[in-house]
Amino acid sequence: MPDQLGTPLQTPLFQRVGLIGLGLIGSSLARGIKRMNLAHAITAIDADPHVCERVSALNMADTVTQDAASGVKDCDLVILCVPVGACGPLAKIIGPHLQPDCILSDVGSVKSSVVQAVEPHLPDHVHFIPAHPVAGTEYSGPDAGFSTLFHNRWCILTPPDNVVQSKADLLKDFWEGLGANVEWMTAQRHDLVLAVTSHLPHLIAYNIVGTAADLETVTQSEVIKFSAGGFRDFTRIAASDPTMWRDVFLNNKQAVLEMLGRFTEDLALLQRAIRWGDGETLFNTFTRTRAIRRSIIDLGQETAAPDFGRRSPDDQTDPSVKR
Ligand code: NAP
Repeated sequence: MPDQLGTPLQTPLFQRVGLIGLGLIGSSLARGIKRMNLAHAITAIDADPHVCERVSALNMADTVTQDAASGVKDCDLVILCVPVGACGPLAKIIGPHLQPDCILSDVGSVKSSVVQAVEPHLPDHVHFIPAHPVAGTEYSGPDAGFSTLFHNRWCILTPPDNVVQSKADLLKDFWEGLGANVEWMTAQRHDLVLAVTSHLPHLIAYNIVGTAADLETVTQSEVIKFSAGGFRDFTRIAASDPTMWRDVFLNNKQAVLEMLGRFTEDLALLQRAIRWGDGETLFNTFTRTRAIRRSIIDLGQETAAPDFGRRSPDDQTDPSVKR
């Protein structure tokens, strides 16, 4: 979509942005920053030499290094784009090397534990403003990213109470420059909301795909052959990166367990309704859930095209048009 992001900035917001972790999110940021001219220069930092090679080959950054400590030195914005469990150890390494007045942010899917792990390693002259772009795919690595990933998606900022507002506003401008809509929240609120909208659905998908794979009465080839019955839509989510999701569940334990408790209770109600032939309960629940999908489509967060926009060969309609 060529002009989806609009016109690039005439004057960049930052001198040099340091991105640590050039996977799906980090490489999408690099591409978006370049395309929208949000920084004069980008330093790409990744522990994996193969990732660094790929980033250089794709010409995504001005400087590429495996050394986080030296890489962040000249940056006025540094973003941690690594699995949430790696944020604390990285902060310990880079903390002493961050320049005065630098903004440090992250993109982690969990916020409270990242704040707890990162903050103790930061000097007072650094502004730590956590963020979470609610955008992604099931793919990983530097080749998976694209500049429009954040377009029309939400990015949640969870600044601390004592944040310097001008710095928070600058980070907001940055995300808006990438096409995102920005929302402010406390870290605790973020973790509770995302537990139900993202973490629980991933856990359910991982579980249901695992259960189907372990079945003995229905063969695996049958599961795959007839997957269009609903199963394949869970497999997309269940193909998400195992390291990232292990860290999400280990770091948002309390909120996920609370939501899992609620989910299990509601599931038991449906189980009971099926057992006792209570069609009214089933019908009412399914009617309520259908309305929720409608509101997601109305808010532009999903396509209204049938079957998630998967097109049949004879379908000539535009899948982006709401029906
Ligand atoms: P990814 O594609 O797996 O990329 C992560 C990159 O970080 C990899 O290249 C990894 O190298 C590197 N890395 C790991 N530890 C490092 C360290 N200590 N120092 C330097 N580099 C390191 O992951 P992603 O999907 O972009 O996710 C990154 C973050 O974004 C996570 O915190 C996740 O919660 C968040 N997020 C993800 C999504 C999504 O849909 N994927 C959406 C929103 C937010 P190796 O390959 O060698 O480990």
